[in-house]
Amino acid sequence: SKYQQDFEARFNIPHITDVLPDAISYPSTFCLKMRTPIIPDFAERYPSDEEWHGYVNNNDRVLLKVIHYSSPTSAGAECIDPGCTWVEQWVHRAGPREKIYFKPEEVKAAIVTCGGLCPGLNDVIRQIVITLEIYGVKKIVGIPFGYRGFSDESLAEMPLSRKVVQNVHLSGGSLLGVSRGGPSVSEIVDSMEEREINMLFVLGGNGTHAGANAIHEECKKRRLKVAIVGVPKTIDNDILLMDKTFGFDTAVEEAQRAINSAYIEAHSAYHGIGIVKLMGRSSGFIAMQASLASGQIDICLIPEVPFNLHGPHGVLSHLKYLLETKGSAVVCVAEGAGQDFLEKINAKDASGNIILGDIGVHIQQETKKYFKGIGFPADVKYIDPTYMIRACRANASDGILCTVLGQNAVHGAFAGYSGITVGICNTHYVYFPIPEVIAQPKVVEPDSRMWHRCLTSTGQPDFV
Ligand code: ATP
Ligand code: MG
Repeated sequence: SKYQQDFEARFNIPHITDVLPDAISYPSTFCLKMRTPIIPDFAERYPSDEEWHGYVNNNDRVLLKVIHYSSPTSAGAECIDPGCTWVEQWVHRAGPREKIYFKPEEVKAAIVTCGGLCPGLNDVIRQIVITLEIYGVKKIVGIPFGYRGFSDESLAEMPLSRKVVQNVHLSGGSLLGVSRGGPSVSEIVDSMEEREINMLFVLGGNGTHAGANAIHEECKKRRLKVAIVGVPKTIDNDILLMDKTFGFDTAVEEAQRAINSAYIEAHSAYHGIGIVKLMGRSSGFIAMQASLASGQIDICLIPEVPFNLHGPHGVLSHLKYLLETKGSAVVCVAEGAGQDFLEKINAKDASGNIILGDIGVHIQQETKKYFKGIGFPADVKYIDPTYMIRACRANASDGILCTVLGQNAVHGAFAGYSGITVGICNTHYVYFPIPEVIAQPKVVEPDSRMWHRCLTSTGQPDFV
């Protein structure tokens, strides 16, 4: 069908041979290292084939949607095919290829981290460096402080090797530093040409990926044999089509410490109310998951679900009800929630993102005012753990995710893909064309089962 064709066209990822017809490939030796330790006995019983060598075939695919809906009704909002007949949708499987498009000794690879901090950045940097070295790449550099490092002459590129990155994952932050704003795309590509960089690994969020895709387009225009590969960094987990992004799991885990403190404070005070603000500019995944995980939240507020503070069905009168019945209450609010209540600041950061008003402080003030107004005692405490969470080191599950994403980013670049990003989809690792995943932020569906599970767990009513 036309739908299927459109889909396939959109998900066909850019290959370096599409840009450069004369690009030649070389046999990869990457997997030979993996083959050596295999005991002959074992090898005899299982005949060797492609898979056996560990290489991924360029035509290998991963199913994008694993549920088979038997009718349009059971598909509900998830039915994206207009005719609602089921269409299988596949994306490219990540991993090492047998043929590679760069001679390792001719590669100069650069890594750059942009935007805000997120647990796991160092883990990804580390694994990219280690994997590049296994391929035999000698020239690996870090670009300091995001895209800015391409134009600021005072910032020297940082030579990277296994020795340099060996222990970086033991601390949070980014070894290379991050920034917002910076040079134009053509300035970045000029700088890359000057430095003879032919592989660029870009770790960042939607803005950074928009930049990475623009850099890829510019390289294509200039017919440069350069691979631009992204690793999506968003603590908010708001990237389309991916099971989850690195840092999210750690954030949810850390958020619970803040929630638990708020709970203890609220519980130990007479008519205590704890308010915790968590990350989530346009999607409430962290707030929702942390509320579900902690079991200590009475009210969870996210950007996707409108609510009223005042009025008989508002958050404040529910808080009064909770104090009367339970004696205390804990609220979890995502930073992007309830922005309508706040005065527009109309300010933007260096990257052009709108600066949000502080909904946490607003709710704290309104709660205090409300209970003072009705002469009802309430002890309100507010916790904003944002910067403490962002600066954490990755937990075990994120550490693994970062490791596999880092390895696959390098495999993708060597396979000759450019303008792609790596992700995990239905538990398998895949490559996506960048525009497909940043077209809009992934959001919590208010009709989804997960959000309803959260409501069931908090016991909160609709606040409209
Ligand atoms: P976070 O989720 O932490 O905000 P981000 O990647 O979205 O991460 P931004 O500050 O928005 O962070 O952008 C990072 C970098 O990408 C900045 O240097 C910015 O100049 C650049 N950038 C953002 N949007 C674009 C775009 N549309 N085209 C080119 N470059 C962009
Ligand atoms: Mg962003």
